[in-house]
Amino acid sequence: MTAPVVAVGTDEGRPDFGPDDVDALADDLLAIAGPRGISSLPRALARAARDGSGMSPILSAQDLGEPDLVCYPRTADAVPAIVRAAVARGVPITTRGKGTGNYGQVIPRFGGLVLDMTSLTEIRDVTGRSVTAQAGARMINLEQTAWAHEHQLWMYPSTVQSTLGGFLAGGSAGTGTIVHGRNHQGFVDALDVVHATADAEVVHLEGADATPFVHTYGVAGIIVGATIRVEPLQQWRCVYASFASGREAFDAALRLATVEPKPRLLSADGPTITAALPDDPALVRGRASVRGIIDARALAETTDLIASAGGRVEAVREGIAETVKLSTLSYNHPTWWLQKSQPDKWFHMEVRGDALVTRLDEVEQVYEGGMLHLEVGHEMMFGMLNGIYRSPQQVIDGVAALEELGVGVHSPHQWYVDLDAERVRALAQQTDPKGLLNPGRWM
Ligand SMILES: Cc1cc2nc3c(=O)[nH]c(=O)nc-3n(C[C@H](O)[C@H](O)[C@H](O)COP(=O)(O)OP(=O)(O)OC[C@H]3O[C@@H](n4cnc5c(N)ncnc54)[C@H](O)[C@@H]3O)c2cc1C
Repeated sequence: MTAPVVAVGTDEGRPDFGPDDVDALADDLLAIAGPRGISSLPRALARAARDGSGMSPILSAQDLGEPDLVCYPRTADAVPAIVRAAVARGVPITTRGKGTGNYGQVIPRFGGLVLDMTSLTEIRDVTGRSVTAQAGARMINLEQTAWAHEHQLWMYPSTVQSTLGGFLAGGSAGTGTIVHGRNHQGFVDALDVVHATADAEVVHLEGADATPFVHTYGVAGIIVGATIRVEPLQQWRCVYASFASGREAFDAALRLATVEPKPRLLSADGPTITAALPDDPALVRGRASVRGIIDARALAETTDLIASAGGRVEAVREGIAETVKLSTLSYNHPTWWLQKSQPDKWFHMEVRGDALVTRLDEVEQVYEGGMLHLEVGHEMMFGMLNGIYRSPQQVIDGVAALEELGVGVHSPHQWYVDLDAERVRALAQQTDPKGLLNPGRWM
C-alpha cells in the first residue's frame, strides 16, 4: 500500500495503558536509571515532543503527541532493562536520537516513554572496512574519527549533528549517496538491537540479519549500537559555482554528475533559494548555485565543465570543516533556510527522477511559486520542490500532476513507515508482539 500524501491520525495501534502504568514504570526506571536518568518535567516532555516536522505546515497544524516520561540511559546495558520494565507495564516506547527527523516519527503519538539515546556516544572501533559505535554517537563525530584514520563514511546526512541510531532508523541518504545509494543498501555491517519482549536483551545481528531494521523508525527494535561502512579517504575539494539561472545550474549539475571519480555530493539551487542560504561570498546573491564535493583528480574537468556550461567558479576549498559545511547546504537544508528566511510561507515535496531537469518548467509550475532544490542522487536526480502553501488539498492535488510528468514523489507530510511497510510490519510482529515500539506508524 502507498502511504497517503497527508497523515490522518486514527487510534489504530494505540496501546491500552493509563496513568497508573506510567507511575509504576517511573518507579521501575528510577531503580534502573537513577534520579537523573528519568524525567517527567514539562520542559523535558516538551523537548521530547519536538522534531523537524515544523518544516511541514500540514504536520505543524496537528497535535502529534507528547510523552509521559523521558528516560536517558547512560549505558547500553540499561536499555534492555528499561525495555523489559516498559513491556511489563504495557507502556509504549519511542526511541529518540537528536530529534531532527522531519516527518514527526520521533514524536510519541500515543504518549508513553521516550528513550533518549543521546548519552550513548562511545565510538568503539575503526577498521579499514567499518566504524563501530553506540547509537547516540553523532554522525559528524563518526566522520571526523574516520578521517583521523585516513577513511571516510560511506554516507552521512546533512543534519551532521544527528545520531547514528537516528540516521539508520529514520534517515536514508546524504553526502556519499551518489556512489553508495541509501542507508539500507549495504551501509550497515552489524547492529545491536533490543526487541520489545518480556525477556529483552541486546541481540547482535550481522549483514542480511541487520539490514531489515534499517529505516524502520524504531518500530521493530531499538538500535543500541551499529557497525557501518567506511572507505579510504579521498582528497576532496569543495567547489562553489554560480550561474545566471536555475535552468543553467540544473543542466550543469547533470553534466557534472558524469565526472569520474564521482562527486561525493552535488547540489543545485536557483537564485531565490541561493539568496536564502547563509552569507558566503561563494553563494552569490542574484545568481543560481551549484555546490559539489569533488575528488581532486576531477577538479580540472569539473571547472572546465562549469565554464563550458556558462558558469563561474566562485571558490574551491578543502578540509573536513569545509566538506561538512558544504554538506549542511544539501538535501532538506536549502528548504529549511528558505523557510527560515520567509516563515509560514513555504512547503515542500520530496521528488525524484530525470524529469525534474528535463521538464523543469512544467515541474516548477505544479505548485504556485514552485522552486526546485536539486541533488544528484544514486543513479537518479532527487530534490525538494518548494511551493507556496495554501492548503492540504493543494499539496495532494499536485502529486498527481507531478506523477503525470514522470516525477516520483515522497510526501514529507505523513508519519507512516514508508519503506516496505508490509515487511516491516511482519518483522515487528515478531520483535514487538505487544505493539509497544513507536506505535501508530501504520497507514
Ligand atoms: C533540515 C533537515 C535536513 C535533513 N537532511 C537529511 C539528509 O540529508 N538525509 C537524511 O537521510 N535525512 C535528513 N533529514 C532527516 C533527519 O535529520 C535525519 O534522518 C537524521 O539522521 C535523523 O537522526 P536523529 O538522530 O535526529 O533521529 P530522530 O529524529 O531522533 O529519530 C528519527 C527516527 O528514528 C527513530 N530512532 C532514533 N534513534 C533510534 C534508535 N537508536 N533505535 C531505533 N530507532 C531510533 C526515531 O524513533 C524516529 O522514528 C533532515 C532533516 C532536516 C530537518
